[in-house]
Amino acid sequence: MTRIALYPGSFDPVTNGHMDILRQSLALADKVVVAIGIHPGKKPLFSFEERVELIHTSAVAEFSEAEASRIEVIAFSDLVINTARTQKADYLVRGLRDGTDLDYEMQMAGMNGTLEPDIKTVFLPASPAVRHITATLVRQIAQMGGEISAFVPDPVADPLRQRARPD
Ligand code: ADP
Repeated sequence: MTRIALYPGSFDPVTNGHMDILRQSLALADKVVVAIGIHPGKKPLFSFEERVELIHTSAVAEFSEAEASRIEVIAFSDLVINTARTQKADYLVRGLRDGTDLDYEMQMAGMNGTLEPDIKTVFLPASPAVRHITATLVRQIAQMGGEISAFVPDPVADPLRQRARPD
């Protein structure tokens, strides 16, 4: 049986925090579908295609070839739980950084569990070294010219500096 995990988020761009959850997800599931939420009217820093590329190059840089080959990246604009159904996911993976994440995620898990009892939400705790990282703050630091290399995978650093502060 192939166990499929869906890991939804914005990934604008992928951070070391996301990579930590992705690494843990690869240990749980045979295939991890990273689902990038596309919201009409919301202008991301990186396009969907660019976010896919950054996730792929970061996965190849940080994981083994066999692990990276078990990751698929898709776009979604539907309800997360509907996307999980379409992808035939067994689990919905969410990272937990702190109590604020937990309060919100418990509500989401409860609602999603009611909508689709067969798909289980799995909370993965952020590793201590990355639990402070949020993509929103990473973007703000980059836009103000701060050093972001401690927060993102190597392949993301240059594109992020360039995009945040185009010459
Ligand atoms: P962010 O909240 O950083 O903007 P997303 O909306 O893309 O990122 O989050 C997608 C998922 O990744 C969520 O489950 C979120 O809790 C998790 N996540 C984001 N950053 C981290 C981190 N530093 N450690 C663990 N999980 C994280």
